Amino acid sequence: MSEQARVWDGVPRLLDGVRIAAEIKAEVGAEARALKAAGVTPGLAVVLVGHVAASEIYVRSKVKACAELGIYSETHTPPESVTTEDLLTLVAELNARDQVDGILVQLPLPAHVDTRRVLESVLPAKDVDGFHPVNAGLLQAGRPGLKPCTPAGVMEILRRSGIRTEGAHSVILGRSDIVGKPMAMLLLNAHATVTVCHSRTVDIARYTRDADILVAAIGRAGFVTAEMVKPGATLIDVGINRITDAAEVKRFFPSDAKRAKQFEERGSTLVGDIDPAAFAVSGAYTPVPGGVGALTIAMLMHNTVAAAKARRISDQAAGA
Ligand code: NAP
Repeated sequence: MSEQARVWDGVPRLLDGVRIAAEIKAEVGAEARALKAAGVTPGLAVVLVGHVAASEIYVRSKVKACAELGIYSETHTPPESVTTEDLLTLVAELNARDQVDGILVQLPLPAHVDTRRVLESVLPAKDVDGFHPVNAGLLQAGRPGLKPCTPAGVMEILRRSGIRTEGAHSVILGRSDIVGKPMAMLLLNAHATVTVCHSRTVDIARYTRDADILVAAIGRAGFVTAEMVKPGATLIDVGINRITDAAEVKRFFPSDAKRAKQFEERGSTLVGDIDPAAFAVSGAYTPVPGGVGALTIAMLMHNTVAAAKARRISDQAAGA
């Protein structure tokens, strides 16, 4: 049933990011196989500097997803002492290699490295993170380009769940270059009416209460409370916050035995930027975990295959 036909019946609908990510991966895998049959194996090069535990985990998941979908991947692991110049040389080599369609520089880089210079040295056509200013400009102009994975994933959740963006008042909390700003552009391009709030916004609740679609991306545990939400609104929770305080766990998940057990075993649990109590008044919502976070790697795979198609298939066609 399309969302236009859907009438809110007072029951919040869980938007299952894991299921949607699996759907996207299956489609991307099929495209990768078709490309392979046409002689083009999509390839991703990952640059992982030093030994940041979280980065190592992310990179492992990305490499695993590539293997599952038939995407070639290679990981470069320069030491923590690497210089900006060394990284620029490495990126230049990757830019020049035809088999490499996507280049991902895992952040954060060590403090002594000029992160911006390194990221901006990636060819825009291979910038599968969608962070390059050229891709940001293309997005702003509403032209085809590589889009940042997390906000692009949010758009897939909305589209595949039949949630109408046209004319919807979409309020975004957060204005970072990787989430808030591209999210605003994507929603604007999808004909939403967009309001962006940030740390200097006065009386945020005044805006959130009017949101048909509320996207929270600020990194503040349970910041959006039920009182700040319009009943029936769609709540998209991008935030990922690890909480380690038992009282906080009890406050956010008062009768959730599974969470309590998880907290007991691990000493922490994850909560988004939206207080789970607010989900109860929503029309639809993404949980944390299992919502937006699940989409990011799927969209990275999507971007890698899209980059291969744009660069190599159109090159072949042009040369034919
Ligand atoms: P960020 O770069 O730290 O930006 C945070 C934004 O939130 C800033 O624009 C900041 O405003 C705003 N902000 C902070 N505190 C606020 C407050 N009290 N009221 C209103 N606005 C406030 O963070 P990010 O990289 O965009 O990430 C945001 C959250 O999303 C984090 O929890 C992160 O872990 C999560 N995330 C998840 C995924 C995923 O795959 N699901 C991917 C990326 C990020 P100013 O600009 O005024 O400082």
